[in-house]
Amino acid sequence: MPHGFDGAVLRVLGAKEHALTVRGVTRLAPHFTRVHFDAPTLFQQATDSPAAWIRLWIEDPMTGVDFQRAYTIAAADVSEARLEVDFLLHEPAGPASAWASSASAGDRVVAQSLGSTSFTPAPDTSGLVLIGDAAGVPAINSILRSLDPQMEVRVLLERSHEEDELIPLASHPGAVVSWVPRDGSGSLALAAAEILSPGTQVWAVGETGSLKALRPAVKERAAGNRKSIHVQAYWIEGRAMGKERRV
Ligand SMILES: Cc1cc2nc3c(=O)[nH]c(=O)nc-3n(C[C@H](O)[C@H](O)[C@H](O)COP(=O)(O)OP(=O)(O)OC[C@H]3O[C@@H](n4cnc5c(N)ncnc54)[C@H](O)[C@@H]3O)c2cc1C
Repeated sequence: MPHGFDGAVLRVLGAKEHALTVRGVTRLAPHFTRVHFDAPTLFQQATDSPAAWIRLWIEDPMTGVDFQRAYTIAAADVSEARLEVDFLLHEPAGPASAWASSASAGDRVVAQSLGSTSFTPAPDTSGLVLIGDAAGVPAINSILRSLDPQMEVRVLLERSHEEDELIPLASHPGAVVSWVPRDGSGSLALAAAEILSPGTQVWAVGETGSLKALRPAVKERAAGNRKSIHVQAYWIEGRAMGKERRV
């Protein structure tokens, strides 16, 4: 079987993998870039629902290793088979952020839609709190765009750098947004404890250690229907997150 992208595309046919081709790139903030893709087959499987995500396979051409990383569908035009993915260009970089920082028209990656979750408003909640960080902004933006304009929502974002606050947020008339500087893994939980209250729906993503500290605060202060609480690790401080395979 051929190696590299062609080999991957052959596997597409048997393994429900989908070829994505870069149409262009837009820098949205100093370390945050939007990649526009043509995705002729992805939406036969994937759905464009709030906070839905896909798995990208990023190939390292030097070693022939493919790295799987999860990314949110930031925006999509399903009828035109196009989507946009927003990449945080973090340091240290990893295969996905490094790829995105130099992506250009014609570049290709393979995507899978497998195990995606998406945001669903819970009935009978007394409010909504969205918690995240720069990597979670694409998902939080897609949730904000899906909400009833009458709804009140608190958005709490952890920032690792002051420039994180330059990342564009979707506007929502009922949203109150605050940023908290990351100061170890406990700072997000401390800030969240101030705004959580019983019966609140909580949707939280972020760094694994921050979420570990956050969970007890959520359990204690926003206890309610289990279905109204979603906490998902997006990345791990000091470690890569995702599978790899030899192409
Ligand atoms: C469901 C889901 C959806 C996601 N959607 C998005 C999205 O839309 N946009 C987005 O940018 N990210 C998103 N992420 C997070 C992204 O998958 C991880 O940040 C991933 O680790 C990046 O891969 P990488 O190859 O660049 O770095 P890796 O090889 O995983 O890690 C290399 C180094 O970079 C560090 N690192 C990784 N991620 C971050 C980060 N966010 N901030 C600071 N340092 C980091 C690691 O600690 C490690 O030291 C999502 C994750 C999940 C699970």
